[in-house]
Amino acid sequence: MSVYWSELVHRLTPYVPGEQPKLQNLVKLNTNENPFGPSPKVLAALQAEASESLRLYPDPDSSRLKSAIAEYYGLQANQVFVGNGSDEVLAHVFQALLKHDQPLLFPDISYSFYPVYCGLYGIEFETVPLNAQFEIAIDDYLRPNGGIIFPNPNAPTGVPMPLSDVERLLKANTHSVVVVDEAYVDFGTQSAVSLVNQYPNLLVTHTYSKSRSLAGLRVGYALGNATLIQALIRIKDSFNSYPLDRFAEAGAIAAIQDEAYFEQTRQQVIVAREALVADLQSLGFEVLPSGANFIFAKHPKHAGEQLAAGLRDQAVIVRHFKKPARILDFLRITIGNPSQNQALMQALRTLL
Ligand SMILES: *Cc1c(COP(=O)(O)O)cnc(C)c1O
Repeated sequence: MSVYWSELVHRLTPYVPGEQPKLQNLVKLNTNENPFGPSPKVLAALQAEASESLRLYPDPDSSRLKSAIAEYYGLQANQVFVGNGSDEVLAHVFQALLKHDQPLLFPDISYSFYPVYCGLYGIEFETVPLNAQFEIAIDDYLRPNGGIIFPNPNAPTGVPMPLSDVERLLKANTHSVVVVDEAYVDFGTQSAVSLVNQYPNLLVTHTYSKSRSLAGLRVGYALGNATLIQALIRIKDSFNSYPLDRFAEAGAIAAIQDEAYFEQTRQQVIVAREALVADLQSLGFEVLPSGANFIFAKHPKHAGEQLAAGLRDQAVIVRHFKKPARILDFLRITIGNPSQNQALMQALRTLL
């Protein structure tokens, strides 16, 4: 606290990202990074970019990347917005499209950055409880609101929502923006991108950090009606003209072009997830259905906090949330490569 701080800074409760430990040799299953490296074609593109041209600013509009993303999804370039990670894209979305007189709605168990953005931008919000199966129940969102946002699959639960439910919500809620945060969609959840041309109030956000294995590059994007995208561009151009540097744009374009690598690695993650779910169930864990590259699981006889601490003592780190109370005994475990998943199972067998 300091008299030099603005009143806003005094009031903020910042987001706390999962730990990035300095220690080597940890089995790191706590922040949903991809266990496989980026495509070799991405690495080659980054090396080619390390040149004298770094003297020059990048393209402020990232036009080549926007065109590549638009082409990939069969959309127009003016339906694409890109940013420095989807967290930055989401920040602009909150400020540009979700601040209205009525409260913003999102699930009570969800991405913990959402209330942080509300605090930063002074947005009123209400949380809507997940149902008994930890699902987002669409009917509970059919009430006055200034916007709706949820991840699909949800985080940290991993539970996917069928596309028919997303569409039912869009049909019933036409007066405010509905944001579907599809950070993990490539791991087996139905995407709402196919609905973008039909619903002018739908915005879908994606990231290169998970399924494209480029968390370190910081690239995310939003897809939606050109009018929604225009609002995001107005915020971006009032904040930072160059959110994507030359490496980010070149690497992201190369990643889209290597479809074979993308398909192969995401399938490997899905196969490893199904194997890990079966292994955990054989130890007595209850595992929620997952359409993501992580699972949310609890053991009926062991407290979540103790399990997380016991794993850490064996150099395996997973994510444990202290609130809300309903998820106190759950662990969020990122799907690792086969040897990491084996190390997790070995450590759990020792603990139980
Ligand atoms: C990881 C994640 C993001 C943000 O990812 P970036 O690395 O900022 O692109 C957004 N939403 C959810 C639900 C996430 O888990």
